[in-house]
Amino acid sequence: MIKSDKCPKCGCEEIGQGDTYGEGSMFPIKSRFKFGSPIIADICTECGYIIEMRVEKPEKFK
Ligand SMILES: [Zn+2]
Repeated sequence: MIKSDKCPKCGCEEIGQGDTYGEGSMFPIKSRFKFGSPIIADICTECGYIIEMRVEKPEKFK
């Protein structure tokens, strides 16, 4: 999954993708006992700005 976004901060076009699986999972507030979802982030490889963050399994937050 390659994105062609540009960093709004420094204009760098090399956007890397990060996955927080394991440590920084996001959990639904309503149902803390369910499993959470890993967060996927699009990160500027130049300045480190996080352009976008989303959970991998949004259906778990319904
Ligand atoms: Zn940047």
